Amino acid sequence: MFACYRCPALCASRKQIVLPDVSDAMLHLPLLVIGEAPGADEDVQGRGFVGRAGRTLHRLLESFGLVRWYQYGCANIVRCRPEGNRRPTAEEIWNCGDFLLETLERSEPEAILLVGGTATSVFCGSGPLHTHIVDLRRGDHQLNLDLCHPRLKPFFEQRAVRVFAIPHTSPLSWNRNAPDGRKWSEWAKEEVRVLSAVFAKR
Ligand code: SF4
Repeated sequence: MFACYRCPALCASRKQIVLPDVSDAMLHLPLLVIGEAPGADEDVQGRGFVGRAGRTLHRLLESFGLVRWYQYGCANIVRCRPEGNRRPTAEEIWNCGDFLLETLERSEPEAILLVGGTATSVFCGSGPLHTHIVDLRRGDHQLNLDLCHPRLKPFFEQRAVRVFAIPHTSPLSWNRNAPDGRKWSEWAKEEVRVLSAVFAKR
């Protein structure tokens, strides 16, 4: 059984550790979805992406033919719920980074979908989410390794894994306008459409 006490504040706020989908078996899925942290529902159920935002995400992906546990698995930047859904600190992200690296190495995804600004900034550096989405598109969805978190960089140094980013699927983010005036949900649909086309060509 996995146990960890590296982050004192998260140990105090969590009910349990939420493991990624790919932790139990040598499960190879072509796509790994990575979010920020477990929320309240995930903390209670011990499973990632089961709350309202998670369900919105699954509906979006399913509408493009991508189904959880068939085409994709889910993980988070940190495995324990921060109190009040605050962002994980840099230290907590560092602490949990080698677990995420292990998840990446175990699952060997062909593509990664980052959900939300925090998850995206861990892989793409600081800056606004829409800028990262546009930069990833321009760079054919390859990471700029100079900006990737040092804990995770080793995975990408040896592989050409395509990386996509979308806004958080919580109602608050989903229905807000992006800087170009469109809804963030429209940005997400556009990215997932391109992502699904990658798998359709295989
Ligand atoms: S967030 Fe990760 S590193 Fe921190 S206590 Fe939880 S499992 Fe351990």
